Amino acid sequence: MLLGMDLTELQGALGGAPAFRAKQLYDALYRQRVESLEAVTALPAAMREGLAIGSLTASETYTSADGTTRYLLSLPADGKTVETVLMPDERRDTLCISSQVGCPVDCQFCLTAKMGLERNLTAGEIVGQVLYICSKHGLDPKSQHVNIVMMGMGEPLLNLKNVIKATKIICDDKGVGFSPRRMTISTSGIIPKIEELGKENLRPKLAISLNASTEEQRREIMPITRKYHLADLLEVCRAFPLKPREHITFEYVLLGGVNDSLADAKRVTKMLANIRAKVNLIALNPGPGIPYATPSEETVASFHAAVMEKLPCFVRKPRGRDIYAACGQLKKMAATEFVQIH
Ligand code: SAH
Ligand code: SF4
Repeated sequence: MLLGMDLTELQGALGGAPAFRAKQLYDALYRQRVESLEAVTALPAAMREGLAIGSLTASETYTSADGTTRYLLSLPADGKTVETVLMPDERRDTLCISSQVGCPVDCQFCLTAKMGLERNLTAGEIVGQVLYICSKHGLDPKSQHVNIVMMGMGEPLLNLKNVIKATKIICDDKGVGFSPRRMTISTSGIIPKIEELGKENLRPKLAISLNASTEEQRREIMPITRKYHLADLLEVCRAFPLKPREHITFEYVLLGGVNDSLADAKRVTKMLANIRAKVNLIALNPGPGIPYATPSEETVASFHAAVMEKLPCFVRKPRGRDIYAACGQLKKMAATEFVQIH
């Protein structure tokens, strides 16, 4: 499969053809987003023989009342599927992509966790999601109004090598053409990998799923905290090499009666005080078997106001809850399994 290959690898796939041939193929795959090699007429037919692009295809599509579309994209290597979500908005479109099939991190509030890890995605399968959505929806990757968030299925930092390789293609001017400033990677806090990411000169912006205001609370809802302690996570964030005007986003899923008190809000502002941080609050998106409640709007509003006193803070509006496309709801849920959750 050609998707995911860089120039050198493409040259190899072309049987050691001259470098300009690899450039033509790179351009066709990533910038022109061709769907079949027959369309790459610049390359002699003999060179195209035996090669396959490896594009993803939709096995299911669900459209929400709010315009969000959730795709189950089928991976040509083994027919497994991943979730990719497009959230159109007046000001910008947000494309949410996956990094793994399932997820090995056991967050207690997240449906994807219930799948466990099936496998890592290849760089080509990560790039393939972006290409699929851009083509399907006619999105211009160079537009200021399209963002990518790596917040779909999976823990991207447990697949860092492929994520970085995909990012290089997605953010290459001569490739897909997104700006790394419009791409965000979200992690549950894999400390050594955050350090590694910080050393990359081309990298997406960092978001941390904080979700708790104390070590004990975080251990309960995110058992990975036993391995990567909250204090150490904050320390690595403090040391993360930020670009001018760059922030780290801290996501905080509000779980009714668990982590949503004003005392929690105060502790959050305190622990983030010496980090260039902004906070994104997400009221729990419910799901079958998730043992938590969504807090009331008033609770969300008071938590928001308390954090806002010290830090920029936004409430993420739930998108596509009716089709199980919202944060933490990605689990290959089919329409027949949807239950009324509003
Ligand atoms: N694995 C990565 C990225 C995918 S999850 C991570 O955990 O950061 C993307 C975001 O959705 C995370 O911030 C996570 O805390 C949040 N999330 C997970 N389950 C949720 C749920 N049921 N309701 C609301 N947000 C949820
Ligand atoms: Fe994995 Fe993120 Fe879900 Fe945790 S919240 S289980 S890290 S996808």
